[in-house]
Amino acid sequence: MVVSSQLKRVFFEKEPLDYPLGRQIYQQMQNAGQEVVFLQSHNRVTGIPGKSPREAFFQGKSTLVVGVRKTLDFATCKPSAHYQLPLVTGCEGICEYCYLNTQLGKKPYIRIYVNVEDILHQAAILIENRRPEITLFEAAATSDPVAVEPYSGSLARAIGFFAEQEWGRLRFVTKFTCIDTLLKLKHNNHTRIRFSVNTDQVIRSYEHRTPRLQHRLQALSKIVASGYPSGV
Ligand code: SF4
Repeated sequence: MVVSSQLKRVFFEKEPLDYPLGRQIYQQMQNAGQEVVFLQSHNRVTGIPGKSPREAFFQGKSTLVVGVRKTLDFATCKPSAHYQLPLVTGCEGICEYCYLNTQLGKKPYIRIYVNVEDILHQAAILIENRRPEITLFEAAATSDPVAVEPYSGSLARAIGFFAEQEWGRLRFVTKFTCIDTLLKLKHNNHTRIRFSVNTDQVIRSYEHRTPRLQHRLQALSKIVASGYPSGV
């Protein structure tokens, strides 16, 4: 695994080591020589430097927190889906117009939730409650989960889960290109992957720390070749 060059620090809550994914991410960070600091309490991240709010914001964007999702009340996600699928929050990209800049307030760091099975179990309950209507979940409502997929593998697990759901569908949008681990998955056309695109001039000017247009289009063409429903 290659640790993102944007990543400056990694925090772990204590509970993630009780989960296979938590142990896996921890081992990956150890193998990559990335120092891991354990947090004393859930949801209280201290130790991100920054003398001003602006500096703290940018440092937060280079900080990964690995934790357990405590609340399994999924927010609604109208009009694009019925519910958010909260696998990840935050994003290492720094797009000047991103609504996460205000939505996440003083917590701009990236958070991976290791209790993916609990999250998918909750999705299964919501799907069951709405059948025979299709229930649609959006995995990129509060993050770009593709950016951390090399560490988390959460999207791959979710795609496999939704492939088996007669009444459930998954969708997410991304600007990031680390999608190779998704290409050979059985998806049953139940996951739609869209790419957010812009001209290179706009990307250079406003979408900092995100892949260039050409790389996004190359990733999109791989997704199309793998048979996923897709779009821009
Ligand atoms: S890539 Fe998406 S989620 Fe990340 S900062 Fe840009 S607009 Fe926001």
